Parts: sequence; C-alpha cells; structure tokens
Amino acid sequence: LGGSISRALQQMSNATIIDEKVLNECLNEITRALLQADVQFKLVRDMSTNIKKIVNLEDLAAGHNKRRIIQQAVYNELCKILDPGKPAFTLKKGKPSVVMFVGLQGSGKTTTCTKYAYHHQKRGWKPALVCADTFRAGAFDQLKQNATKAKIPFYGSYTESDPMKIAVDGVETFKKENCDLIIVDTSGRHKQEAALFEEMRQVSEATKPDLVIFVMDSSIGQAAFDQAQAFRQSVAVGAVIITKMDGHAKGGGALSAVAATKSPIIFIGTGEHMDEFEVFDVKPFVSRLLGMGDLSGLVNKIQDVVPMDQQPELLQKLSEGHFTLRIMYEQFQNMLKMGPLGQVFSMLPGFSAEMMPQGREKESQAKFKRYMTMMDSMTDEELDSTNPKILTESRIMRIARGSGRLVHEVMEMLEEYKRLAKIFSKMKGLKIPKKGDMSSL
Ligand code: GDP
Ligand code: MG
Repeated sequence: LGGSISRALQQMSNATIIDEKVLNECLNEITRALLQADVQFKLVRDMSTNIKKIVNLEDLAAGHNKRRIIQQAVYNELCKILDPGKPAFTLKKGKPSVVMFVGLQGSGKTTTCTKYAYHHQKRGWKPALVCADTFRAGAFDQLKQNATKAKIPFYGSYTESDPMKIAVDGVETFKKENCDLIIVDTSGRHKQEAALFEEMRQVSEATKPDLVIFVMDSSIGQAAFDQAQAFRQSVAVGAVIITKMDGHAKGGGALSAVAATKSPIIFIGTGEHMDEFEVFDVKPFVSRLLGMGDLSGLVNKIQDVVPMDQQPELLQKLSEGHFTLRIMYEQFQNMLKMGPLGQVFSMLPGFSAEMMPQGREKESQAKFKRYMTMMDSMTDEELDSTNPKILTESRIMRIARGSGRLVHEVMEMLEEYKRLAKIFSKMKGLKIPKKGDMSSL
C-alpha cells in the first residue's frame, strides 16, 4: 500500500503541469490502495470528495510541494475519521467499574480482556475477570489460565449455563472484594447471531457496565462496518479495541469500527502475549495505514532529526540490529536538546502515546532525564549490550541504589528499552539510502 501511494504521489511530483486530471489520477490510486487496506468504500469515496474540495489546484500549480499538500490532506482526513469527536470514557481508579467486552468469536476478546486487566494492574488498579461465556467449550479454562498467569482474580463456572447469572454473581463477588475494574468476558458465538445479540443485551442489562468495549479483529476486511454496527445496535458500545495488528492487515477496518460505533479506539493488540498491547494513537496508526510509518519513513525521520554527524553511525548500528541502551541514551539526549520532543519516535506505534503524551512534554522530559540518571549507573558493558539478560536482579538493585531510584523504576526503564529494541529490530539488514534518495511519503 505504502508503495503504491508513494508511487502515485511520485508521479504527481514528476508531472510538470498539475491539473485536475493529475489530481484525479493520484486520488484514484490512493483510493484503490485504501480499499486494499480494507477501508470502507463509502469512507474512501467521501474522503476523496473532501480532498478535491480542500486541495486548491492553484496552490498546487504555484510550485508548492505538491506531494506534501496532497499527503497532508489525505492524512488529515483519515485522522478526522478516526477521531469520533468524543474522548474515550475514563474510569476512576478506586471506584468499582464494570467493563463488558463484546465481539465475535475469535476476535480476541478473552485474550484482550487479560491484556486490558494486566495493563491496568501494572498501573495500580485492582482488576478482576469474569467469564460469562458459557457457549464455547473451554472458555472458562482459557480465561482461568490467562488470569492465573497474570495473577488476576477470576470468576466463572463449569456447571452454570446462564451467562447472566454468572456475570451478575461475578460482578457482585468482586465488588465485595473492592476490585475497581471488573471485566466481563462474553461469548461471541458465530452462527446464532440473533441469539448472540439478545444475550449481549441481557448481560449488559444485568451488569450495568460503565463501559462496553467492542473487540474487532483487524483482518476481517470490509465486514467491519456491519459487524461493529450490529453490536452497537444491541449494546451501548463506548470504545473499540482492534486486535491482531501484528499480522498482515493494515487495519483499515478500524475506520469503519469508529464510524459505525461512533466510539474511539483505545488500544490495539499486537500479538498473542499479555504485554503485546498498545495504547492507541491516531497519528502513527494513520501513518502506518498510508505506509508512512514504514522503515524508509523511519530512516527519513532519523535523517531529519538526528544531528548530521551522528547519522551514519546510528543508521549503521540499527541496520546491524544493535539497538543498545547507549543508543537509547543518546537519542534521549538528542530529544532533550531539540526541545519539541518525539519527532523520530512519534511514528512508532505505542511509543509516542505511552512515553510522550501530548501536552505533557515536561513530564516526558523529566522521565527521559530520570532514565538517563539510571543509565549513568550502568557499566559500559551493560550499555553496549543487546542482551538485557546480563542485567541480573542484583545489578538492577545496584543500579537503583546507585542512581537513587526505585527498583521498579529501573525495571520500567528496561521495559521501555525492550519495546524500542523490538521496533528497531525491524531495521536489521536494511539498506541505508542516502539522504535525498528517498521517494517515500
Ligand atoms: P475470543 O473468541 O474473542 O475470546 O478470542 P480469543 O481471545 O480466544 O482469541 C482468538 C485467537 O486470536 C487466539 O489464538 C489468540 O491468541 C489470538 N489473538 C488475540 N489477539 C491477538 C493479537 O493481537 N495478535 C495475534 N497475533 N493473535 C491474537
Ligand atoms: Mg473468548
């Protein structure tokens, strides 16, 4: 997708006369590419119409950077579609909240319930899981296994067949135990659709959830809109989570889910493991959809942002697969020097939202400085290693003491490192183009 859009825009910039015909050709190509990425036909058509209104042909002709103008317009329109205009409902820590998960069987509900619980547990919440899926054999065992692994209390039954009864009992039990995030996993049986939606309505009525989260598999294609709408019509969906973003799907269905439920996406699932879960951030997501968040884009950004004299060495190291703590240290240093943070990292899914929430740059800077202090207490060997295993428990305690920080803060910093290392590992083996050769968006 990224390739074909790039090509379309490239063609544009090569054309000497920018007229409506060229603009149309370009938009047609982008339209095709977005459809391939599973963006709903109607959304694509509306976007295309809007762009024609927004993009001023005279501006294009006047020698401005044409690629940039069209790119920006497409990008902005897609961001607008993903922003339903109301913020995600926020739950209050310490006050018992009930969150109900809905979605078709196989969409990733049970997995996502645990990820969601685990994410909040790490941030000081007291979550609990209730299995109200009495339809699928083994549903309770699956939830039990996940919950045990994450040390999260769970509730369910092998004998009770009434999902409403289990849901209500589970919610009551955990309210008594002062859990503040009671998560109800539901069935998503395929074939009996009418019965499924009726069941969702009943469980929702019985448990009065503060939030209903619709879970959708990113690879379901053009079916996304109808599916999301069907759930929305039976329960008050308030947020969306898109799963399996680690696969091949570009995730265009996400736009449909937002349009159909009029609810924001709050997280994306990026793998089967508990911690493969990211706070959703519109901009990197759209970048990815357009192919702008790809590796050549990343290289481009590095070339824009990292001081010239450091570029060759950094790119070389990254292409060799060496993302070390020292590199992270140096990049924090760069970002602190540059003021406005996060240009390189803002393209990376997960990192920008977690590390640099918009409008909280001061906090992020403080965090970078804190991390750097901890890294100052590390040995050269540790800073230059790509194997985090050499940081044993005793070393972590030593580093904490040496930098006057807490052990869990050091662990948090190392977790951040691992996450970045995983992203940058994709650059391994990459041929580094010279600046100016890039034809990506
Ligand atoms: P449910 O039927 O909606 O409860 O779905 P499950 O939670 O049982 O998940 C169905 C399958 O999808 C399981 O094999 C999960 O491991 C897998 N899965 C869930 N989320 C993700 C994800 O984000 N990425 C990948 N690769 N697999 C996922
Ligand atoms: Mg399930």
